[in-house]
Amino acid sequence: MESAHENAIKQLEQVKNHVKANTEEFEKLKQHDRVLSQTIEIEMDDGTSHEFLAFRAQHNDALGPYKGGIRFHSGVSEDEVKALSMWMTWKCAIVGVPFGGGKGGIVVDPKTLSEEELERLARAYVRAFANDIGPWKDVPAPDVNTNAKVMGWMLAEYEKTVGVHAPGVLTGKPLELGGSRGREQATGLGGVYVLEQWAKKKGLLPGKTTIAVQGWGNVGYWFAYFANRAGFKVVAVSDSQGGVYVPKGLDPRITMECKQEKGQVSGCYCVGSVCDVKNGSKITNEELLALKVDVVVPAALESVIIGENASQIQAKQILEMANGPVTAEAEEMLTKKGIVVIPDVLANSGGVATSYFEWVQNNMGYYWEETEVFTKLKKLMEAAFTSVYEIHQEKKLSMRLAAYVLGINRVVEAMKARR
Ligand code: NAD
Repeated sequence: MESAHENAIKQLEQVKNHVKANTEEFEKLKQHDRVLSQTIEIEMDDGTSHEFLAFRAQHNDALGPYKGGIRFHSGVSEDEVKALSMWMTWKCAIVGVPFGGGKGGIVVDPKTLSEEELERLARAYVRAFANDIGPWKDVPAPDVNTNAKVMGWMLAEYEKTVGVHAPGVLTGKPLELGGSRGREQATGLGGVYVLEQWAKKKGLLPGKTTIAVQGWGNVGYWFAYFANRAGFKVVAVSDSQGGVYVPKGLDPRITMECKQEKGQVSGCYCVGSVCDVKNGSKITNEELLALKVDVVVPAALESVIIGENASQIQAKQILEMANGPVTAEAEEMLTKKGIVVIPDVLANSGGVATSYFEWVQNNMGYYWEETEVFTKLKKLMEAAFTSVYEIHQEKKLSMRLAAYVLGINRVVEAMKARR
C-alpha cells in the first residue's frame, strides 16, 4: 500500500496537465520548505524521564504563514506530517485563506499519560519549535487528540518563551484566550453551506434529500444539526458503538439530548450510544454507509469507504466531512458507478476558514459576534464551491481534482508573484 506522502504526490501528478505551473514550479510543489524533527524529553509523574519524537512539517508558504494542526498519536510519522501539510497547502488555497500548509505531531499514545504529563509534553513541544512557529510564520491548531485546553497550555508556553502576548500563534484556543466564537460549529456548518450549493446545482430539494451521517463528534453532530435546520432529512447517524436509522427523519438536537440522558428522554429510542425518538431502528456503521439515501456523509475517520465496501454504496453523492474517508481505489469504483465524491479539502474547509477568522481577530485585538463569523464563513464556502464547480464542469474533472486545480493554481500564482 502507498504511504500517505506517496498518495499526496500521486494526486499532484494527476492534475499536472491542468495546472498553470512550469516544470520548475511543479517540482517545487512536490518539495517541502522544511521538515523539522526533535526528540523532546519530559519528566514523568514517577520522576523518570521519557523521550518522544516530535515533528513539524512546513510545505509551502507562498500564500502566507504555514497553518495546520498538531496531532498526538502513536501513528505519527515524518511521512504522515509531510502528506498532511501538503494537503493543508491546497485546502487553505481552495477556501481562499492566506495561509500555507503545515502539520505537526508527537509520536505518543496520549491515553498512557496523566493530564500533568500531557501538559508537560505540550509545553515541551512548543519550546522545541518556538523559533519555527509564530503568528506570521507558522500557526498550529488542534488535531487528533489535541483540543482547546492543549492549545491554551501551548499558547501560555509560547508567550512565556518569547516574552510578549501573541494569541495569533495558535488557533482553536479557548474563548478566554482569544478563541473565535462559532469555531466549534464551523466545520459542520461549512459542510452544510457546501451541500446547499451542490443541492441547488443538482435540483435536490432539501425536504426530499435524505442524509446518513457517520460520526457523532464535533463535525458529525454540527453537520447533522445545521443540515436539519436547513430542511434536509437526516435519517441515520452513528458513532463508534453503532447507529440509529429513523426513515421519517430525526432531530439531531433531540438525538444528542437523548444520548446525553442515556435514553431517558421521553419517547426516545436508544441504540449503542446514539438515540432518537421511537420508530428508529438499530444500524451498524457498515449498514449506515450502504443505506439507500441521497447523501452519505462520513464524518468520523479516514478510510471508511474502501475497495471492499465501495460496491455497496447506494447514495448518489458522498460528502467527505472527515479527512480522507474515501480511498483512491474506492473513489475510482464509485466514479464508474456515477457516484460523486465532494472532497474533504472543500467540504470540511470551514474549520480552517474559521481558524483564519480567529487569527484575524487575534491580530487586530477586536472580536466578532457569532453571527458575523457565520456570515463570513458562508461567503467563503460559497465562493470556494462555485470556483471548484466551474472547474469541474469546464475541465470535466472530478470534484476532488477540480478542487486541487483551484488550490494549486492559487499557490502557483502566489509563487510567480514573489519571484
Ligand atoms: P471527534 O473526536 O469529535 O468525533 C469523532 C466521532 O467519530 C465520534 O462520534 C466517534 O464516536 C466516531 N467514531 C469513532 N470511531 C468510529 C467508527 N469506527 N465508526 C463510526 N464512528 C466512529 O472528531 P471530529 O473533530 O468530529 O473529527 C472527525 C473528522 O473530521 C476527522 O477526520 C477530522 O480530521 C475531521 N476534521 C475535523 C475538523 C474539526 O474542526 N474538528 C476540521 C476538519 C476535519
